[in-house]
Amino acid sequence: MKLTDLYAASDEICLYCAGPRPARRTLADLLGLNRPDPLCAECRSQLPLLHAAPKTSTAKASARTTSAAHLSAIAHATHATTCPTCSRPQPHATPCNDCRRWSESAHWHDLITHNISLYAYNDFLKDYIARWKYRGDAVLATAFRHDLLRTYRKHFDRSIAVPIPLSTERHSERGFNQSEQLTDIIAAVAPTRHYLTRTSHEQKQSKRSRHSRLHDTTSRPFELAAHPEQIHAKHFVLIDDIYTTGLTVRKAARPLIEAGAASVAALTVARS
Ligand SMILES: [Zn+2]
Ligand SMILES: [Zn+2]
Repeated sequence: MKLTDLYAASDEICLYCAGPRPARRTLADLLGLNRPDPLCAECRSQLPLLHAAPKTSTAKASARTTSAAHLSAIAHATHATTCPTCSRPQPHATPCNDCRRWSESAHWHDLITHNISLYAYNDFLKDYIARWKYRGDAVLATAFRHDLLRTYRKHFDRSIAVPIPLSTERHSERGFNQSEQLTDIIAAVAPTRHYLTRTSHEQKQSKRSRHSRLHDTTSRPFELAAHPEQIHAKHFVLIDDIYTTGLTVRKAARPLIEAGAASVAALTVARS
């Protein structure tokens, strides 16, 4: 079964909690111009955007529900301040300390221009992503479609989307690559290329100290799977589910930068 079939099959039931979704049968729906939100309003309200949606979407969202949780999600989305380099939610709009350290390091600076994450990594999203990645509910990725495409068009127009590969072992363990699923969604609006391969997997980043991350200058888990002429002077955006420390995207950016990429950015679902 294709993702689109599953999507159709889940019509009017929330993809996540299986609760009811109000059927919205406007003319545009019937003509297939609209894709209804696969999440119910309550689940959607628990995914506050880190970067404010355009006013029209916020107005539509307000019309969908008046639940307190949803209103607070909209307030959060509208007033959130984030680090301009990595999307970390914080009280000021200047680069956070981690981004300053990356940029001051001779080994790590200038690999990534910036990372845009769609949502804050709250308890709901943690659970959502865990179900998506580890329990194999691959269809859950479709709930990110609308925000992913809107963000891509707004921030990465003219960039080529590149998924972060998994190693062969990890891929066969899990059955799919979450980054490739997100990239497949983006393929509706942008060129996508599998220009990287992964040769090894490393210890979980969150378990490593900042010192060990910054001094991890020898391992190269990613290799280029393209001719340098395909990379030269082009703009790329790496696609992944979570930006945690920024180490993975920087390591993935290196072979592209070394092959002459004009720039590499990152687009991720969650900023942890
Ligand atoms: Zn729901
Ligand atoms: Zn930052």
